[in-house]
Amino acid sequence: MLGADPMPAEVFAPARVLVVEDEPKVAEALRSGLEDAGFAVASALDGEEGFFLASSESFDAIVLDRMLPGRDGLSILAALRRKGVLVPVLVLTALDGVEERVAGLDAGADDYLAKPFAFPELLARLRALLRRGRGDNLLQLAVADLRIGVARREVTRGDQPIELTPREYELLEYLVRHRGQIVSREMLARDVWKETQRGTPLDNVIDVHVTRLRKKVDQGFEPRLIHTVRGIGFLLGDHAPGGGL
Ligand code: CA
Repeated sequence: MLGADPMPAEVFAPARVLVVEDEPKVAEALRSGLEDAGFAVASALDGEEGFFLASSESFDAIVLDRMLPGRDGLSILAALRRKGVLVPVLVLTALDGVEERVAGLDAGADDYLAKPFAFPELLARLRALLRRGRGDNLLQLAVADLRIGVARREVTRGDQPIELTPREYELLEYLVRHRGQIVSREMLARDVWKETQRGTPLDNVIDVHVTRLRKKVDQGFEPRLIHTVRGIGFLLGDHAPGGGL
């Protein structure tokens, strides 16, 4: 039906983050915040589970609480490093101070954040770790000559940087992650605008953003990437949707 072949799923795999945190509220806030930021999140509520997951599965980064029931975060970290697990680790702790930081870094932490922390700071530090870490490949998205560096939210077309508002960026990343698929306005309202109850339809708002995004991404470039699928929504791909639209 469609001209564009979807790329293999792993090309678009979001960065995987393991959160090891025993306070349910903090764990849940981290999970939902990180998922909103486009990460795939696995959670462990205690040290043993965290150690098991970190040593048996592959992650791009770990957010590790220092004070955990049963097994302390730093001993888990040291054990992982001894096993050769090199994934970047951000340690969270209620304790602050030079000695705490040194202990964390000695155990193999890549970064360190004292509680209470502001979520945007955690996100910024995590993204910095991912840029330095091995997760980089998974954080590059590309369609034709459009490139998205997810960690830094950098967009280029050809060699030209494209400046986007945060919403435009989120819209573009979503379309790119669903490339070759028709994306409806309902999907955009739910997943990009996070509008679960559509008291006032967002269709006009969405259309305005898509129009602006298309100007920035497609104007002056070939091929056109953002296509309208009449009556349904949009499709991003380097071929127009099939059926003569
Ligand atoms: Ca704790």
